[in-house]
Amino acid sequence: RPRTFSGIQPTADSFHLGNYLGAVRHWVALQETHDAFYCVVDQHAITAGHDAASLRQRSRTAAAQLLAVGLDPERCTLFVQSQVPEHAQLAWILSCITGFGEAGRMVQFKDKSQKHGNERSSVGLFTYPILQAADILLYQANAVPVGEDQRQHLELSRDLAQRFNTMFGATFTVPAPHIVKDTAKITDLQDPTAKMSKSSSSPAGIVNLLEDPARSAKKIRSAVTDTGREIVFDTETKPGVSNLLTIYSALAERSIDDLVNAYAGKGYGDLKKDLGEVVREFVTPVQERTRAYLDDPAQLDKLLAAGAEKARAVAGPTLRTAYERVGFFLPV
Ligand code: ATP
Ligand code: MG
Repeated sequence: RPRTFSGIQPTADSFHLGNYLGAVRHWVALQETHDAFYCVVDQHAITAGHDAASLRQRSRTAAAQLLAVGLDPERCTLFVQSQVPEHAQLAWILSCITGFGEAGRMVQFKDKSQKHGNERSSVGLFTYPILQAADILLYQANAVPVGEDQRQHLELSRDLAQRFNTMFGATFTVPAPHIVKDTAKITDLQDPTAKMSKSSSSPAGIVNLLEDPARSAKKIRSAVTDTGREIVFDTETKPGVSNLLTIYSALAERSIDDLVNAYAGKGYGDLKKDLGEVVREFVTPVQERTRAYLDDPAQLDKLLAAGAEKARAVAGPTLRTAYERVGFFLPV
């Protein structure tokens, strides 16, 4: 079976609809066809300042949500990054074959560092795409399901795999992004040109999986929509309405055309009200299942430890090969 790997940061108390529709939903699907490795990337979550007291609980909540939306530990390997030391170990080697200018071209670093102030941004935020490359390459992943915002980082992962292979001999599978266009960029409800983001959207711009659905419905009612009153799908001229249609279509499993026909002659208010209901129907069982996993943290921690052990069984041999190839002095 081909391999898949992907990760998500525990940078908030909840995932949002962008994370689910752009990425995690595809993780669930790929379990059926791929040898799947999915990771709560807590080491990435300390790159831009974090609260130590809540990080561990956020990692648990992240894992609980992943299970609640359909990851099955029988069919995939689910683990927490910091429990598998090979990630940080391989990242060091890869950082030594990454150009400083090459890393400096990552637009996400430019965006995020601007927000924090360039002087105060950490070196970790700068090198995070290299750790991400290590995450992926350790598992020899063929496909990496992510949102559109990760395309450039995936390109770096591919370049680093190829470069290492050329310099030291064939070692890593060159991974391909698995980006499903329709939902690859869910936008902020208050700023339909920006992506919905855990760390940079305002609360009013995000629909969180774990928030009170009445609150989500209210945010959707206040979403920025476009001039005109017709409900049509056009991401250029009507990004706000198009974003709502995209979310609706994906959650209700109805085509955009079908929705546009159904709302012909109706107003934005009708669409928003119904979408609030669609979201409520989706998140209610997800919230119940998430709570059930969190009610038994010992069981959850055990499941994650078992995942880390399965992950290490693959990551360990890959790292060992990389160590040999670069000429490290392995103990006898
Ligand atoms: P942060 O703001 O902390 O970076 P994030 O919301 O970008 O958080 P990540 O944990 O960085 O979330 O990303 C997890 C996955 O969700 C990635 O595959 C990413 O591409 C995807 N993703 C994030 N935001 C969106 C979005 N608005 N639309 C589609 N996919 C998204
Ligand atoms: Mg992100």
